[in-house]
Amino acid sequence: MQLTTEKFIRDFKDTLHEEQMIKVPDASPAELFETLAHTIRKYITPLWLERRRKLVESQQKIAYYFSIEFLPGRMLETNLLNLGILDTVKEGFAELGVDFDAVRNAEHDMALGNGGLGRLAAAFMDSLATTGYPGFGNGIRYQYGLFKQKIVNGYQVELPDDWFGSLGNVWETRKDHDAVFVNLYGNVYLRANEEGRITPIYENAQVLRAVPYDVPQIGFGNDNVNNLRLWDVEIPEKFEHFYPTLESRRKVTDITAVLYPDDSNSEGKELRLIQEYFMTSAGLQTIIKSYLKQGLPLEKIHEKVSVHINDTHPAVAPAEFMRLLIDEYGLEWNEAWQATVKTMSYTNHTILSEALEKWDAGLFKYVLPRVYQIILEIDNRYVAELANRGIAPEMIENTRIVKDNQVHMAHLAIIGGHSINGVAKLHTELLKEDTLRDFYAIYPEKFNNKTNGIIQRRWLQISDEPLSAEIDKLIGNHWRTDIHELRKLLDYQNDQQVLNDFYRVKQEAKARLAAYIKESTGVEVSTEAIFDVQVKRLHAYKRQLLNLMHIIKLYWDLKDNPDKDVVPRVFIFGAKAAPGYHFAKSVIKLINEVANLVNHDESLQGKLKVVFLENYRVSLAELIIPAADVSEQISLASKEASGTSNMKFMMTGAITLATLDGANIEIKDEVGDDNIVIFGMDKDEVYSHYQRHDYYSRGVYESNPVIRRVVDTFINGTIPNASQEGSEIYEALITHNDEYFLLEDFASYVAAQEKIDQLYRDKGKWAKMSLVNIAHSGKFTSDDTITQYAQEIWNLKK
Ligand SMILES: *Cc1c(COP(=O)(O)O)cnc(C)c1O
Repeated sequence: MQLTTEKFIRDFKDTLHEEQMIKVPDASPAELFETLAHTIRKYITPLWLERRRKLVESQQKIAYYFSIEFLPGRMLETNLLNLGILDTVKEGFAELGVDFDAVRNAEHDMALGNGGLGRLAAAFMDSLATTGYPGFGNGIRYQYGLFKQKIVNGYQVELPDDWFGSLGNVWETRKDHDAVFVNLYGNVYLRANEEGRITPIYENAQVLRAVPYDVPQIGFGNDNVNNLRLWDVEIPEKFEHFYPTLESRRKVTDITAVLYPDDSNSEGKELRLIQEYFMTSAGLQTIIKSYLKQGLPLEKIHEKVSVHINDTHPAVAPAEFMRLLIDEYGLEWNEAWQATVKTMSYTNHTILSEALEKWDAGLFKYVLPRVYQIILEIDNRYVAELANRGIAPEMIENTRIVKDNQVHMAHLAIIGGHSINGVAKLHTELLKEDTLRDFYAIYPEKFNNKTNGIIQRRWLQISDEPLSAEIDKLIGNHWRTDIHELRKLLDYQNDQQVLNDFYRVKQEAKARLAAYIKESTGVEVSTEAIFDVQVKRLHAYKRQLLNLMHIIKLYWDLKDNPDKDVVPRVFIFGAKAAPGYHFAKSVIKLINEVANLVNHDESLQGKLKVVFLENYRVSLAELIIPAADVSEQISLASKEASGTSNMKFMMTGAITLATLDGANIEIKDEVGDDNIVIFGMDKDEVYSHYQRHDYYSRGVYESNPVIRRVVDTFINGTIPNASQEGSEIYEALITHNDEYFLLEDFASYVAAQEKIDQLYRDKGKWAKMSLVNIAHSGKFTSDDTITQYAQEIWNLKK
């Protein structure tokens, strides 16, 4: 959009005056933020309406992305950048004497997600709007986002994330007229009506009102505005008398109160099942209603609508869609089923079996009696059809939806849809060969890969403005609209001046982070040190503990030989642990106690520092990632489906230190062996251990004195205030045979870290590697990922 600085200043002052009745110098950053957001909303609204009008008029096919998590972080700068008015607003603020950074920091992160999965969903919203494909999000308007993490005495403490605060969500619009009803519980009978049609009779159902709040998703430089629809729950007016007490009302509002703070386990909780069904049913109901307004026949809905199931949480969608088509709109089973399969598609995000959702059949039937009947019918027909095709009984049993008294949600998503994709090449291969092998034999045509991606606008243009400016100087600014142009940087890989400039920009980002570290933890770190960063959810498979073991080894090296010639290091961690994940919390405690130990040890001469930054989230990631020299991507090969922080780090010039896991493999293929540091077992070696059952961690521990010394450090009192946690770690590594092969990969990790130390000594060489990484990072734009979804799965047109 077009906007002059003068007009912006006028609009901003008018809004401030109207809404706050104060003048600029008197306003707090929060008031200024709210005013700015409201000013921008006035710019967005006409674009939003126009987009809707055009979509209705053109009757284009629309994809709906169903996800129980969206993790956009802050929206202000993204919205300004995408509208094309970020610089105008910054100039306007400069004229008004307002500190833009203070206003930006007044926005609370929108953290309706745990980690990578929710972040991907948010990235896709931006990329859909930017590429111009009609794609809308569908999720839950949680009252509390992912918990706020405090570190107290080295322990994680969880506080509620009251993200609405006093401002509410400044970006949303409540859409009362699109509210729908969702039924739970009760009994269902099937009766024949006068025409002999079997119809369900509901008795004693609990009826909830689902109210949507729409959040605009603005495309970059195209004035295109899509919709992220988040559902809230309310008590329907005519049932209010059933809820006379505050407590009974709270039971209802609890449905959208909290995000489940766990991104790896499916918690078999009734409330979670209700959340999943609630957003899925509400979303599908409005989709069908808006489709029918076009006057087209329902059995052809797949020609105008795609429904995407992001992980298994919305995987009840095929069954609920069948229920709506048959019970509410009178379609026959077969035509409803064909439309359903053609409408639905599913992304798998993990091969960890504990994360593949299964529901107890009794609970499912109790909460969703009619949907359960439909699932049984789908399951029966599936079994009959496969038997008919001559599929082996064992294979049918492995893949059916209801078995051993459990409802397998991934199976429902695969059977009830036409596409299942993994999120990186290796991950998709593993799905085909292993996790979903039988499904792949039955439906090979449904399987495909869509490697995850990231929003370069947030992770480069916004979060690393100085680097972006440096890139502009070299190759012009066209890369800002076509990220693949970053490849032109390769022309400068041997230009000493350019390499010096890149090095300087990185040092400046490190200085900004160093200031934050000092302010938030009191620890002083030198920007001459290598900033070695691991930020992501805390999980055993991601192996933060392996990183810590290497730190302990360095500690002993320096204690033995204080004059040892090493490049100083600052190890930086950021990670939330699921509140019920005991092991992960012990690792956090140990990282913090090792930090206490080394940061206060004068004999180390500042060569080793360890920092744990609390409350890792998108806005903190934007500060940390541009300042990284080393990106730690050290999961056990085969366990990290894709990873996306690996891509963010690469884009701002960190060198990846990685196992051959997830998208690390694709990063290596892009930059070449010389511009990444790889270590550890590959997936075949890991699987061969599984097959041969030949891993024995105690053997490694007993025969390798270096490992033995590191592991013993957890239990011999070296690390103060953590003897309990230390012995738990020891038990996991030695008594429980080290499930994630840390001891096996340790030697090769240490060697890789020594290589990093050597490489960093040659600043020119390092800067060149950094530049090559940036130059190749365009490969991982989510704009391209979403284009592949749109063309290959959803069959959309721009
Ligand atoms: C990108 C991102 C993640 C995902 O990190 P991985 O290392 O890929 O697991 C998690 N949390 C936040 C806040 C992120 O920005």
